[in-house]
Amino acid sequence: MPPVLPAQPLVFVDLETTGATATVDRITEIGIVEVNEEGEVREWSSLVNPQTPIPAFIQGLTGINDEMVAQAPTFAELAEEVLSRLHGRLFVAHNARFDYGFLKNEFKRLGLDFKAPVLCTVKLSRQLYPQYSKHSLDALIDRHGLHMPARHRALADASVLWQFWQVLQRQIEPATLQQAVSQLTGRSSWPVHLDPALLDELPERHGVYLFYGDNDLPLYIGKANNLRQRILSHFSADHRIAKEMSLSQQVRRIEWIETEGEMGALLKEAQLIKQWQPIHNRRLRRSNELCTWRLIPLQRGDEEGLQPELAWARDLDWGEQHEVYGLFGSQRDALKTLREIAETSQLCLATLGLDKVPKGRPCFGYQLRTCSGVCVGSESLTAHSARLQNVLSNWRVRTWPFGGPVMAREGGSWHVLDAWCYLGSARTEAEVQALLRHGRPVFDKDTYKILVSWLPKLGSVISVNDGEVYSVSFPASSDTPD
Ligand SMILES: [Zn+2]
Repeated sequence: MPPVLPAQPLVFVDLETTGATATVDRITEIGIVEVNEEGEVREWSSLVNPQTPIPAFIQGLTGINDEMVAQAPTFAELAEEVLSRLHGRLFVAHNARFDYGFLKNEFKRLGLDFKAPVLCTVKLSRQLYPQYSKHSLDALIDRHGLHMPARHRALADASVLWQFWQVLQRQIEPATLQQAVSQLTGRSSWPVHLDPALLDELPERHGVYLFYGDNDLPLYIGKANNLRQRILSHFSADHRIAKEMSLSQQVRRIEWIETEGEMGALLKEAQLIKQWQPIHNRRLRRSNELCTWRLIPLQRGDEEGLQPELAWARDLDWGEQHEVYGLFGSQRDALKTLREIAETSQLCLATLGLDKVPKGRPCFGYQLRTCSGVCVGSESLTAHSARLQNVLSNWRVRTWPFGGPVMAREGGSWHVLDAWCYLGSARTEAEVQALLRHGRPVFDKDTYKILVSWLPKLGSVISVNDGEVYSVSFPASSDTPD
C-alpha cells in the first residue's frame, strides 16, 4: 500500500480542559499531530497548568489531576510553540468547535487573534458514513478498529484522528473525500471573486455583514448570530436560489461589524439598511414617507368630537408624549387602512374626513349601511368619536417611556437610545457623549419594533441624564400591527 499523503498540511488536535465552557474553563493538556504534504508526522503534547483547580469528575475522566499540572507550563508559556505548530495548517479535531474555541480563547487572553481553517471529524464522519447514527470518538474507534492506548489523553485522542484520516484515504474515493472536506471547510462554494483568505477570518460572532460589488455601495446588508455560518450559508449549495446565485456572483468584497449580541446586530442592520438602501435588501422602508394618525378636535354645532389627521413621522418629536396610531410606509397605506377600519366598524367616512359629501347629506356608506349614521344625526358625534378612539387604541404607538436618552447594556457595550431611535453603541462615557452630540436620526419603524420587543428582554435601562435605573416592562396589549 502506498503511503497516504494529505493534499495540504494538517494538524490533528485534541485538548483536555477543566470544563466545557471555552470562555471560563481552561486547558489542562494539548495533543498535536502534525502531518505535512510529504507525509512526515510529528507528535507533540504537553500538560498545561490551568491556574485553577480541576473539578473532581474531570480528574476522574482524564486522569489529569492538580498535582500533575502544578509544575507544568502555563498556556502563556506554551503559546508561541503551539501557534507555530498550528500555523498554516488545516485544523482537524473531533467536535472541532470545542477545541478551536478553547484555543482561540486562550490566545485571546494573551491578546493574540488565532484563526485557522477548521475541519470537524464528527461532521466528516457523518457525511461520509451516513448509514451510522453514532459518530463519537469511541464509535469511530470501534467501527474502524483504531488503536487506542490511553483514551481521554490529548495526544492519544489526536493520534486516533490521524488514524481515522488514514482510514478515509483507503476507504473513500479521493474526489469524494476532497469534496466533503471542501464543503465542510466552506471552500467548495466560496465565490471565485472573493479573497479566499477572508474565509479563515470570518468570526463566529454576532454582527452585521455587508456584501460589496465593484463599487463602494453595498449590494446587501444582513445580520447574523454567527457571522461565519450566515455568510457561508449565502454561498452554500443548498441555498442556491436565483437571488443568492446572483448575489454570490456579484460579490467582490465583504465587510463585517461584530456586535455584543443579537439586539446590537438588529439595530446596526436597521441603521445601515436605512443609510445605504442596498438593492438586494427586499425590505426597503423609506423613513421619509412614514406616517401615522393622530386625533384632533372636531366641532359640529354644539357637539364636540374627534377627527383623525395624518401626521408625518419626520415632523413629530418622538421623545414627547404623542397619542398617535399606526405606523404606515406611505400616505396611501395610511388612508387605505383607516378606510378599512372605518368600514368594518361602521364609522362615517365623511365625518372622518375621508370622503367629501355636501353638508347635511348622508354619506355614501350610510346608503350601503356601512355607516351607522352620525352624518344624518342618528348617532351623536360624541358616541362616534368614542368608538373611533376605541377602535384605534389597538394601533396606539407607544410613548417613549423614559423622559430622555437611555443606555441599554448588552455584553460589554451600551446601546444609546433616545425617542425610539438608535444613536449607536458605546463602551465608554466619552463615546456615549459623542453619540449624544451627534444627535438623533430620523424615527423609523424597524428600530421602534426592535426596541419594543428587546427592551423588556433586557429588563432595565439607565437614564443618561441622571443615571437612574428604569425597569422595562411594556403591557403586552398595545403592539402596533405591521
Ligand atoms: Zn356617514
